[in-house]
Amino acid sequence: MKPLTEEQELILGTVRRFVGKEVIPVASAMEHRDEYPHALVAQMKEMGLFGLNIPEEYGGSGVDSTIFAMIFEEISRGWLGLAGVIGSNSVMCDVVGRFGTEEQKQRFLPGMATGEKRGGICLTESNAGTDLQAIITTATRDGDLYRIDGSKMWITNARHGNTFLLLAKTDPTSQPAHRGMSAFVIEKGEPGMTVGRDIDKLGYKGVETCELHFSGFPVPAENLIGGVEGQGFKQVMTGLEAERLNVAARGLGLARAAFEEAIHYAQRRTTFGKPIAEYQTIQNKLADMATHIEASRLLIYSACEKRDRGERCDLEAGMAKLFATETAAEVTLEAMRIMGANGYSKDFPVERYYRDAPLVVIGGGTNELQRLIIARNLLKKYKVDS
Ligand SMILES: Cc1cc2nc3c(=O)[nH]c(=O)nc-3n(C[C@H](O)[C@H](O)[C@H](O)COP(=O)(O)OP(=O)(O)OC[C@H]3O[C@@H](n4cnc5c(N)ncnc54)[C@H](O)[C@@H]3O)c2cc1C
Repeated sequence: MKPLTEEQELILGTVRRFVGKEVIPVASAMEHRDEYPHALVAQMKEMGLFGLNIPEEYGGSGVDSTIFAMIFEEISRGWLGLAGVIGSNSVMCDVVGRFGTEEQKQRFLPGMATGEKRGGICLTESNAGTDLQAIITTATRDGDLYRIDGSKMWITNARHGNTFLLLAKTDPTSQPAHRGMSAFVIEKGEPGMTVGRDIDKLGYKGVETCELHFSGFPVPAENLIGGVEGQGFKQVMTGLEAERLNVAARGLGLARAAFEEAIHYAQRRTTFGKPIAEYQTIQNKLADMATHIEASRLLIYSACEKRDRGERCDLEAGMAKLFATETAAEVTLEAMRIMGANGYSKDFPVERYYRDAPLVVIGGGTNELQRLIIARNLLKKYKVDS
């Protein structure tokens, strides 16, 4: 990996200090109350964290993918839910920045960079998650508008956000279905969009995840991303490649937090007259945890570097997401086992990490899907002539 520039060190140092001083001391208590972190979000706005992947010419900081991943690692080390406030929001920024018309970029990106316009992505429906081509939400042309009808499910930032990337069918009869799918920037304000219930979740608390209902909700035609119908599926899939890397980095942050808690605890806790860190059983666990964490980090950085060279990195991003998030699930459980009953107690943060870990396994494309993507790419790469 290239050494960091002074400016990159500065951004990262600022985020580290913010996480250490402001986030970690309050994270567990707020997470247990499922409280939205308004004050922390205000600070993240001030720090420019909503504009990380928005080019400088539109008011963002346009950091490269590696720094972006490092920042997500740091925030997730403190509190995964807080990373969720900027996580899916950054996918929306990525899609608008890559595929929006110049007019759309100028209209949306500066407000997104400050966090004044913020939200996330409205893709999933109650009957369509992995299989996004099965969505039934429609966008029907009506003069200068499109009218949105349908319901979205599992939408993070739905209540506190105001601007979203929405995937809908502009031609529900199209075969293959993806050719009839389009993506829009939608903004709250007009009647016809209702935020439904907040879904009660195992973890990933603090940040809200809700149902969203649309009934004739008007969206100006100029909000169709790229200005051409039928491109939405491709645009969203490209955005999800970036999301895989940010979810991988979130897994890395979570795993690191759990590991650090466990290795400190193991040196303080004594049984049979010596610290448990001196038992080979515990040392084996610590060695495996740290090795998997380091391997996750290297997979993430390698995929990020490829992406920053302008190359597709489906295979590498898939591997990074799969490995780093499975590592998060394993390491959070191992940390709990090292800490015994204390690991199971809400007095220590490990139970929170353990409850947060499944989200990174499921979100950003399930790990079952990552394996399919990896295998598909490998079969392409190693194709034999028949
Ligand atoms: C806390 C949380 C926040 C979320 N936030 C958002 C958000 O902001 N916006 C949004 O749009 N969505 C969001 N999601 C939804 C998330 O993207 C989906 O849950 C995810 O894509 C999986 O879809 P699903 O839950 O419908 O599972 P399904 O697609 O029904 O899959 C069920 C199981 O079958 C497996 N499976 C499916 N197809 C295949 C296949 N072809 N081969 C092998 N296995 C397969 C899956 O891996 C999974 O194990 C969120 C989810 C959670 C839990």
